[in-house]
Amino acid sequence: MHELKASPHRPSVAIIGAGFGGLGMAIMLERAGFTDYMIFERGSDIGGVWRDNTYPGAGCDIPSPLYSYSFAPNRAWPRRYSRQPDILDYLRQTAKDAGVLDRVRLNTEVTGAEFDSGTGKWRVETSDGETVEVDVLIPAVGQLSRPSIPEIPGAETFAGPAFHSARWRHDVDLAGKRVAVIGTGGSVIQFVPQIQPEVARVTVFQRSAPYVIPKPDRTYRRWHHRMFKALPFTQQAGRASIWTAGEVLTLALTSVQALGKIVEVTFRTQLWLQVRDKALRAKLIPDYRPGCKRVLFSNNWFPTLMKSNVDVVTDRITGITPGGVRTESGVHDADVIIYGTGFKASEMLAPMRIRGLGGRELADEWAEGAHAYLGMSVPDFPNMFVIYGPNTNLGGNSIIYMMEHQFRYVLQILAEMAAGRMSCVDVRREVADEFDHEVQDRLRTSVWTTCQSWYRDESGRISTNWPGLVWEYHRRTENVDLSAYRDLGLAKTA
Ligand SMILES: Cc1cc2nc3c(=O)[nH]c(=O)nc-3n(C[C@H](O)[C@H](O)[C@H](O)COP(=O)(O)OP(=O)(O)OC[C@H]3O[C@@H](n4cnc5c(N)ncnc54)[C@H](O)[C@@H]3O)c2cc1C
Repeated sequence: MHELKASPHRPSVAIIGAGFGGLGMAIMLERAGFTDYMIFERGSDIGGVWRDNTYPGAGCDIPSPLYSYSFAPNRAWPRRYSRQPDILDYLRQTAKDAGVLDRVRLNTEVTGAEFDSGTGKWRVETSDGETVEVDVLIPAVGQLSRPSIPEIPGAETFAGPAFHSARWRHDVDLAGKRVAVIGTGGSVIQFVPQIQPEVARVTVFQRSAPYVIPKPDRTYRRWHHRMFKALPFTQQAGRASIWTAGEVLTLALTSVQALGKIVEVTFRTQLWLQVRDKALRAKLIPDYRPGCKRVLFSNNWFPTLMKSNVDVVTDRITGITPGGVRTESGVHDADVIIYGTGFKASEMLAPMRIRGLGGRELADEWAEGAHAYLGMSVPDFPNMFVIYGPNTNLGGNSIIYMMEHQFRYVLQILAEMAAGRMSCVDVRREVADEFDHEVQDRLRTSVWTTCQSWYRDESGRISTNWPGLVWEYHRRTENVDLSAYRDLGLAKTA
């Protein structure tokens, strides 16, 4: 068994996942002098979703000045909504500059972790059969890292290539092919306009129409880059205004739903201006309230659907045949199927087997839905802090912003450990329960309960989203309330 060496009082840390969450946490640890850490990454490269989502047109939908670390501003973003290669480059460069890349163990999946109450340490088990002992466990595996493909009868009989948008097959030449696209989520509205000009036909199978509003994208020119460098506050101001707009959108989704009207009017105006065909327009009107599913941004989605080689099919899919996709109205011929069907968002931390105090399984603790105090701490799972955990996803603002609050929060606890004032802590159950009740109560009146979406698990519980403003999360995580935790006094970090 390998043991990471904890210096006196300085806990050793295992981070799981090398996306924005894991790498950001590592950078903050490094800066604070907590140098006994290791990052386990199951992929063959760092980057998380930005390594995996290489489909044509992949990019962020929160502008780059905000969709980046506040502590590593990039004055040279090529555009306001950057594309996947630039986001991945940014993440790689930032991690390299901070000196954390050589702590990443690639191709190493964490299969499980067990807390040992004898030693007060976590035993982390990896796919190569190794066990590593650490004081603190930080899972940062993301909510959107496991693609979800629906079980459709006959799918295995399809004669051509079939793949998920997050596992894009660049070896499949789509030129001149008939392509069936299943789903109309965030990825689909980005890649269909890119592939449409080269394919023979694209058939989009839509279960429910998304609210798509204009994307205020622009390329940043040389003068922008010069200005951001010479006068950093100009980029800061841009960041602040995007943040504020995100808060307004969040208000529309949570407590002031009348604001959703703004989204609806914007959507209907764009639809009316871009789609002149009445029958098509009727298909593209969502049957749920604005914001219940993620609001999407695009200027070219509707114009693409107007092209003569694009069909939108709204009949229910009943099966897949060797030659295409079957719906109630017949078989739609296809040479290639692309699943744009999203991710297993609510199956948090799966499929790892995590066992806490007394061997308690995290899967049992979360049997009725994942929940964690402030999205990070789970009773009976001492010294485990989840990044981008339950109820910390957002419908209208930057996830990286949320994560940064988590990094700072965890650092505060580690600082308490380093100072010898805490050793091995878990959140008090009554505190975690009260927090969860509050979150679920508030979510019950949010727009997200008015339709079925990836925000909800099978039972209908919303285990993904934060119920309030980002500002509130900032306020509640700014200073750790130490009384929320009990110290088990087990860890041997001193
Ligand atoms: C296409 C796309 C666009 C997005 N755009 C935006 C946006 O514009 N704005 C926004 O705020 N959010 C956006 N998101 C959400 C995005 O998930 C977060 O912003 C953020 O990138 C998540 O980072 P993460 O590190 O938590 O997770 P991930 O990026 O998913 O990284 C998790 C890492 O953990 C690894 N891992 C998982 N399990 C294990 C294991 N058992 N052992 C070892 N390694 C493991 C994975 O391989 C992965 O590398 C987008 C998501 C997608 C898919």
